[in-house]
Amino acid sequence: MPILNETHDPSLQSWVKSANDPESDFPIQNLPFAIFRPLDGNGDFRGGVAIGDQILDLAALHRLDPFEGEAARALNACTGNTLNEFMSMGRTAWSALRLNLSQSLHINAPLSDRLAACLVSQTKAEYAVPARIGDYTDFYTSIHHATNVGRLFRPDNPLMPNYQWVPIGYHGRSSSIGVSGQSFRRPNGQTRAPDAAEPSFGPSKRVDYELELGIFIGPGNDLGAPVSLNEAEDHVFGLCLFNDWSARDIQAWEYQPLGPFLSKSFASTLSPWIITTEALVPFRAEWHRPADHPQPLPYLESDANRDRGAFDIHLETLLHTGQMRERQAPPVRVSLSNFRHSYWTVAQMVAHHTVNGCNLRPGDFFGSGTQSGPNPEEAGALIELTQGGKQPLTLANGETRTFLEDGDSVIMHGWCEKPGARRIGFGEVAGTVLPAW
Ligand code: MN
Repeated sequence: MPILNETHDPSLQSWVKSANDPESDFPIQNLPFAIFRPLDGNGDFRGGVAIGDQILDLAALHRLDPFEGEAARALNACTGNTLNEFMSMGRTAWSALRLNLSQSLHINAPLSDRLAACLVSQTKAEYAVPARIGDYTDFYTSIHHATNVGRLFRPDNPLMPNYQWVPIGYHGRSSSIGVSGQSFRRPNGQTRAPDAAEPSFGPSKRVDYELELGIFIGPGNDLGAPVSLNEAEDHVFGLCLFNDWSARDIQAWEYQPLGPFLSKSFASTLSPWIITTEALVPFRAEWHRPADHPQPLPYLESDANRDRGAFDIHLETLLHTGQMRERQAPPVRVSLSNFRHSYWTVAQMVAHHTVNGCNLRPGDFFGSGTQSGPNPEEAGALIELTQGGKQPLTLANGETRTFLEDGDSVIMHGWCEKPGARRIGFGEVAGTVLPAW
């Protein structure tokens, strides 16, 4: 696990003035990575680092040849149109580049005049999915979500017997993962009404969002070589926001016995900025397993995982309906949660995923599963907030929702704050449901 160092010093300020705004998601202590290109040119997609309301163009920076050794090699790996190579280099390289970037963006940095020419305004850029995602695995790590959803189907026995023992997951589809700003057609599919004898075909009536963290894998492991829990975080590059859209009515009809399929693979949207695990060091938290719950099997248990395996990340979901957009009204918050409630840690997900010998590769991607908190208003999906569609939500403008309607945009934010540390944020992930074909 990375440790606290000079790049986390809360007193650090940048010569990029917008980064010193206490409200900024991207102060000099954050330094997240994305793949972007300027909107005005025909330039290729390349790596960038967020600083305040700007992007430091890593391809332009590389042409100045400002760094040496490991940091120079790491910078070179960020000049192409994916971050897979940089992700594959591992923690020493990531950390060397972060330190050099921190020193270069510092308010007293000698090179600031030359680096200023490498800045691109975030409002004048577009983003791409930051890695070539080979495999996407979706976990189910919020026991509150699993219990709330399970109760809708099995009121007396909401949790399946494996839940408290196994970090549950399934293999998802990477081809339909898009970056913030993604819009998609409401999926068509088979559904069956509870009292119907046969299924019908048509647009899903129960399109929902899922508030998740996305996890990018760094160095992979060889086929047949499990990653131990204590080594697991050496294989994790960083975290982003992730909206794992779901068609609940298609899911309910198709999911047995092999799990979700077309109800999930029509779209999943991630935020452009990947927050490195090094940037998140000040916001690590204890991981608890209540004493009256089953304790993890030995391969999922360690002191380090107990001491600081969790991440304290505030999560927020907002809804911006078509009507709100027409009337130029702002989005409204529908829930607030935190990743620290997760029943399993990121390290446990990696250790479990590889314990059978399965190989992970650089740029592989995990969804954490919907992150619902213990209280009803902390639910990370509409299926929970509306009790399976039985209790509509009334929004501030008088509109109601059970599930998403055409034209609805869902916006998610994430941020970390605690006394003694500089607040950092994740930016946002936004996506919009369009009418069915
Ligand atoms: Mn999911």
